Amino acid sequence: MLSHTVTNIVGKDRLEGVFIAPVDENRKPILEKEEYIPCDTLLLSVGLLPENELSKKASVKLSPLTGGAEVDEGRETNIDGIFACGNVLQVHDLVDNVTDEAYIAGKASAQYLKGLRKQGSKIEVKANAGTRYVVPKYINPENIEKNLELSFRVKDIYKDHYVTVYFDHKRVIHQKKRILTPGEMQTVKITAEMLITHPCNEISIGVEKE
Ligand SMILES: Cc1cc2nc3c(=O)[nH]c(=O)nc-3n(C[C@H](O)[C@H](O)[C@H](O)COP(=O)(O)OP(=O)(O)OC[C@H]3O[C@@H](n4cnc5c(N)ncnc54)[C@H](O)[C@@H]3O)c2cc1C
Repeated sequence: MLSHTVTNIVGKDRLEGVFIAPVDENRKPILEKEEYIPCDTLLLSVGLLPENELSKKASVKLSPLTGGAEVDEGRETNIDGIFACGNVLQVHDLVDNVTDEAYIAGKASAQYLKGLRKQGSKIEVKANAGTRYVVPKYINPENIEKNLELSFRVKDIYKDHYVTVYFDHKRVIHQKKRILTPGEMQTVKITAEMLITHPCNEISIGVEKE
């Protein structure tokens, strides 16, 4: 998370130093606390956003939380027959996770082409307290054969907290985690059996102390 920002770079032909300042809750620099750091190199470690030029051209609905498409359990977008996976959907830490997501989208698009994807009622999936976003945004339980993994990121560092999943107001998953960090994508598995046992309109995922 952004805690400081570079406010000025000193040196014309050769870097001589930078001014940095802490940021307030609106990410605006607090100039009264600005300090000068002499240096000859500036390395920036910045977060990534999904590249959504193609999605926008195709009128795919984008999530304000991820910057990528809003998708269902098969990674199908709001546009019939357009599927999204990988960094165009959500920024992945590891390429292995991209591969897993590509299998999901590939399988669902093959089912779509064969006319096997079910288009019934959908459950909305929401990010609750402590979580920044969750993918997918919608689940059609009829398309879940065994399990479905929800991927999400937390807002802060949490030690010895619980990942909780509510089906409407019923807590169905309560998993203790030694540490949760925003920089590491998290996953939680929901099963087809849970979806049958606890029919609901909304699933929400969050982080709780107890
Ligand atoms: C600096 C960095 C280091 C990383 N290190 C690791 C690591 O060590 N290990 C690891 O597992 N993961 C690592 N990752 C993460 C991993 O690289 C990504 O999660 C993964 O590459 C995402 O795969 P992707 O296919 O979704 O997207 P990309 O690999 O970004 O592929 C998207 C492709 O689409 C193309 N494209 C974009 N727009 C258009 C367009 N309009 N028309 C046609 N083509 C287009 C792009 O040129 C690109 O080739 C790293 C990522 C970064 C940025």
